[in-house]
Amino acid sequence: MSNSYRGRFAPSPTGPLHFGSLVAAVGSYCQAKSQGGEWLVRMEDLDPPREVPGAADDILRTLEAYHLNWDDTVLYQSQRLDAYEHALNQLATNGHTFPCACTRKSIAANSSLNIYPGTCRNGLAPDATARATRVRVNSDTVNFHDGLQGTQKINLESDVGDFVVKRADGLFAYHLAVVVDDAFQEISEIVRGTDLLDSTLHHLYLQKLLALQIPRYVHFPVAVNAQKEKLSKQTHAPAINTTQPGAMLEKALTFLGHEPDADVINANPETLLEWAVKNWDLERIPRQLTISV
Ligand code: GLU
Repeated sequence: MSNSYRGRFAPSPTGPLHFGSLVAAVGSYCQAKSQGGEWLVRMEDLDPPREVPGAADDILRTLEAYHLNWDDTVLYQSQRLDAYEHALNQLATNGHTFPCACTRKSIAANSSLNIYPGTCRNGLAPDATARATRVRVNSDTVNFHDGLQGTQKINLESDVGDFVVKRADGLFAYHLAVVVDDAFQEISEIVRGTDLLDSTLHHLYLQKLLALQIPRYVHFPVAVNAQKEKLSKQTHAPAINTTQPGAMLEKALTFLGHEPDADVINANPETLLEWAVKNWDLERIPRQLTISV
């Protein structure tokens, strides 16, 4: 019987892997491998101004040092621009998008919660110049069942507003690229941090408009620092080392509710991951953050 589980890890090469991204890699890897599935890596190099030269290769070498071996070849979003253009055209042809002349500043001036106030949705003002492309949302409440966080609901119109699918600087937006690629790579389940929970509602909406296959979703708590800030490049999360991957892997597994048994403590990454895959159980992952790092 063929197994159709396909999971993925989709780092942005904006810097080296830090503990937060290691947790995302380990969680998605164990979830895929515990079901005999495939685990793919997609490099989300869609935003050159935010990228750090060499970071993509550095991330891949770090994954190798942690024995997080991916299936198939790595997909690079920078090679997929035609597919995003095609999806954008599909949305435009079906009347789902509109050009928008607003700036962040003008939106903030017209909306207390930074929700797009609909300024350009019925056409640009005569003297306005189009900058970004937005997708028109509707007043339906989007809801979905998250494998860990339970039922999530959002009303895109009142909570988010029409959102950007192509940015003013000409780059495709993450929301568009991610749904196009998850469908292209036939990802059956997405395992990632709760920082992307709200994004999922955008993704479900675009998947519907583009008639794409809808994957299952599981969002685990994200690691924070002592100031309760999400670990990221912006909060200066340190790069994880590759000289002693075992210790860091034990920490990531513990964070995900899978503290290694005594007989594998201090084992090498390969043995630790084998143990984790064998003992993997979503029920053990805390829904909310209980520890900070
Ligand atoms: N590239 C995104 C990030 O590094 C993750 C995207 C995703 O998992 O959908 O935050």
